[in-house]
Amino acid sequence: MILAVAIDTPLRRTFDYRSERLDLAPGQRVWVPFGRRRVVGVVVAQRDRTDVPAGKLRSIFEAVDTEPTFDAGLLQLLLWSADYYRHPVGEVIAAALPSPLRAGTSLREETIVWSLTELGRTEALTALKARAVRLRAIVEALARTGEMTASELASETESTADALRKLEARGYIVQSQRVSAAATATTAPRVGPPLNEAQQEAVQRISGTLGSFASHLLNGVTGSGKTEVYLRTIAAVIERGDQALVLVPEIALTPQLIARFRARFDSPLAVLHSNLSDGERLAAWRSAGEGRASIVIGTRSAVFSPLARPGLVVVDEEHDASFKQQEGFRYSARDLAIVRAQRLGIPIVLGSATPSLESLHRAQRQPQWVSRLPQRAAANAKPPRMALIDLRAHGQTQGIATPAVLAIQRHLEADGQVMLFLNRRGYAPVLFCPACGWSAHCKRCDAHLTVHGGSHHLICHHCGSQQPVPELCANCGQPTKPVGQGTERIEEAVRQLFPDAPLARIDRDAIRRRGELEATLARVDSKEVRILVGTQMLTKGHDFPNVTLVVVLNADQGLFSADFRAGERLAQTIVQVAGRAGRAEKPGEVLIQTEYPEHPLLKLLLAGGYEAFAAGALQEREQSEWPPFARIALLRAEAATALAPMKFLRAALAIAHDYPMRGVQLLGPAPAPMERRAGRYRAQVLLHAGTHSPLQKFMSAWLPALESLPEARRVRWSIDVDALDLA
Ligand code: ADP
Ligand code: ZN
Ligand code: ZN
Repeated sequence: MILAVAIDTPLRRTFDYRSERLDLAPGQRVWVPFGRRRVVGVVVAQRDRTDVPAGKLRSIFEAVDTEPTFDAGLLQLLLWSADYYRHPVGEVIAAALPSPLRAGTSLREETIVWSLTELGRTEALTALKARAVRLRAIVEALARTGEMTASELASETESTADALRKLEARGYIVQSQRVSAAATATTAPRVGPPLNEAQQEAVQRISGTLGSFASHLLNGVTGSGKTEVYLRTIAAVIERGDQALVLVPEIALTPQLIARFRARFDSPLAVLHSNLSDGERLAAWRSAGEGRASIVIGTRSAVFSPLARPGLVVVDEEHDASFKQQEGFRYSARDLAIVRAQRLGIPIVLGSATPSLESLHRAQRQPQWVSRLPQRAAANAKPPRMALIDLRAHGQTQGIATPAVLAIQRHLEADGQVMLFLNRRGYAPVLFCPACGWSAHCKRCDAHLTVHGGSHHLICHHCGSQQPVPELCANCGQPTKPVGQGTERIEEAVRQLFPDAPLARIDRDAIRRRGELEATLARVDSKEVRILVGTQMLTKGHDFPNVTLVVVLNADQGLFSADFRAGERLAQTIVQVAGRAGRAEKPGEVLIQTEYPEHPLLKLLLAGGYEAFAAGALQEREQSEWPPFARIALLRAEAATALAPMKFLRAALAIAHDYPMRGVQLLGPAPAPMERRAGRYRAQVLLHAGTHSPLQKFMSAWLPALESLPEARRVRWSIDVDALDLA
């Protein structure tokens, strides 16, 4: 028998091997010879013929497991993804595998589990000191779930082998062989708050479609109780004996969110995110694939998680850009989640307070699957009041206009918390010489270097290169000065203005490790912190019930961008930041600083909220034929010289007419908006079509031909289907 095997290489094809065994099914991993190496591949098809000459056809060594790693449905989804995103199939399949499985670890998992002894059940929690947090967490997890393997415990409770030995020595826990791999979801979920009418309707509408495909949009303002809707619907899924897959943005997968799921359900969770160790990831993956976990919750790549009994997919904050992989295999986890749900015949819920225009457009065609939560759920929580501050009309202190300073003072005096949002980290975006006009640029990128005050460094936010801040201008020897504001400088200014108000800064520089964010957020929750300064990091996944004032310091980045999505992103950011405020009883106030208070986007957003903005933006997209009213793909090329990418793209365009390009327009080549980045010159061609199928037809014929262009050898090129970022 001939097996077509996918191997982790950049080549856009599979490889044929001979197999003596006839029982190797698609989805199974096999050890094969590849060049001089022995590698793991995945069987994608059985064939009875091959084009490889008999003398060159090699045989597989052996199967890695006795059963397929991917079931037929998941394998088909991966093959479909490789085709849709025009990405090498071996790399697509590798992206879906935890790395131990890529390296040949057996699929079957460890079967030694830990459980509580009688003594452990009755005495451990009273006998263990309150300080023994880790030991107590282990006992609690075992009490909840019955039994767990060491790696499951490690991923759930950060337990260590040492901690387990201690508990064993005290007679609280024992090891045994796992009895069955069956689902352990037995107990009913604990009850949540009584649902309001809108939530009830949403739960009914979604639950009514369990067992068949439906793509629901859950369009609910911030704080409207979307998570509560997910929890109730998931309860119905678990009751049917099925699993729910929940995708969340990278930064939103916090212990608080996990805790919320744990507080509701006893059934085990499989948590998948990028900070897991190999062992943890594999344990969660197996738990999902074997059906032990009733809920699989994870970031982008969890869309490829195996599921034994899929029943529902949820994509929370579906508008979030982190669902799009921007490098290598450039896929949209949100879009693939929809495809997966459709292929599985199960419903999917896309939830957001600021849905993407793509999802709103789909919803217009399927009004029966739209649920709205127009009001905040918590008692007495009101929508925030929004107002603009005209930066041209008021004095400023380091970028904070006088009316904003006064508002901060007012809210602090009224015992409120204040949040200042600026999507720019560092001290100042530019180091400038007033004497001669020189400014500090990155040597490797077409970009200014950002001044980082704390470290007295100039850092390039695009390539990461660093250098000390020069004392004097490199050009004329006069003193230089930082111009503009970043979060560090805002922190400095606010500390001077309000020296008595404890302040915390939340951005990638201030928060380097996961635990740090948790610790800072806890200080905000306890009201110890009165003023919060931060970037985008503030907008996701965390509510600040005591924040009564939000100041958006600069709404203007994005108002005049060439990127057709910039307006959508700006509106989402403003609404999401605004939505962090006043979630509890106290009414919230939102002030947006701008030099363009007459800008239609801001006017529409203030007058009619996100829905009004989105309606206008959709009309514009339709008129200008941008997605979702058209399909695009971006062919990018980069090289160490400016000439090579342009030459390659021109050669690519020159042969385009040999391929079926009816209905497809090619725009370019043009240098990328930031042409030089990390020392490499970048250029691109935009592919545009009214619908996907002509685009797909053209790309499938044209792209393989690019591989053999002589100009291709001097560049690195890639294709980004449904590109989000045109830079
Ligand atoms: P979202 O996911 O839409 O931001 P959440 O589900 O986090 O909203 O709910 C916001 C707040 O309202 C939470 O504190 C939640 O516990 C509370 N909440 C949700 N639903 C209800 C309800 N039906 N009654 C009372 N409080 C609720
Ligand atoms: Zn100078
Ligand atoms: Zn740089």
